[in-house]
Amino acid sequence: MNINSVINESKIFLKKSFIKTAQLDSEILLAEVINKNREYIILNQNHTVNKESYYQFKTLVEQRSKGKPVAYLVGKKDFWNYQFQINEHVLIPRPDTEIIVEQVLKITKFKSNLMILDIGVGSGCILLSVLKEKKNSRGIGIDLSKKSVEISKLNALNLGLLNRLKIFKTDVDNFNFGKYDLIISNPPYINKLDLKYLDKDVINFEPNIALDGGLEGISVISKVINKSSELIKKKGKLILEISFNQREKVKKLLINKGFYINKILKDYAKNDRCIISTKI
Ligand code: GLN
Repeated sequence: MNINSVINESKIFLKKSFIKTAQLDSEILLAEVINKNREYIILNQNHTVNKESYYQFKTLVEQRSKGKPVAYLVGKKDFWNYQFQINEHVLIPRPDTEIIVEQVLKITKFKSNLMILDIGVGSGCILLSVLKEKKNSRGIGIDLSKKSVEISKLNALNLGLLNRLKIFKTDVDNFNFGKYDLIISNPPYINKLDLKYLDKDVINFEPNIALDGGLEGISVISKVINKSSELIKKKGKLILEISFNQREKVKKLLINKGFYINKILKDYAKNDRCIISTKI
């Protein structure tokens, strides 16, 4: 079989399974199996796919038809300018989260030698992207999940950042190390009661621990704010990703802990997504 017919077969199968991105997903999965990129797939429709690759591909497509996200199937995801290894123990890096990286770079444009903390580091996508751009800065990432610590360290190794970065497995409440110029966090912020409304691919495959924000979705955010108020330097910045309906609640929590609200930014869907504050 050639690429064209393999892709077509998979596309029809995935469409029947209500996968909206059937063509794209098929191309990415086949590219992964034959060790090429998507452009190659598109430009070499007559290239023969050998039996082994075909069956390997079919196994992936089968899993995709059950909703497993492509990023988990290929074990990687592009974020900012880099590629991150991921697995089902960490959240898939989202394009909207790049807004945090963008903002951090904007705010710190004329600053260097920063000490940065990422609470809930996950795959490491935010902190590692920031550290790649801020060459003289150092970072600490913490996460509750041992698996997240493993994968973010692997990403740090791949990006050559281990000399400027430490990652610890700890609960935010028990972390009491250092003072920071900048604290960033994309905490779990989905209201416990709303988890069931999430996309099936998300709720069935992404780690609950990375999504569940407890009652009203602010249990973890409020812990992050409390801890940040202790560990942040005076005039230090705290940048948080929040849910579209949390602006007022989070503002209140921040103000109560001595933060001044600088701005709230919207994501690509025009929803509130990121709140920037300064410790007074
Ligand atoms: N910091 C990671 C990310 O933004 C993980 C966030 C999380 O697990 N809630 O993708």
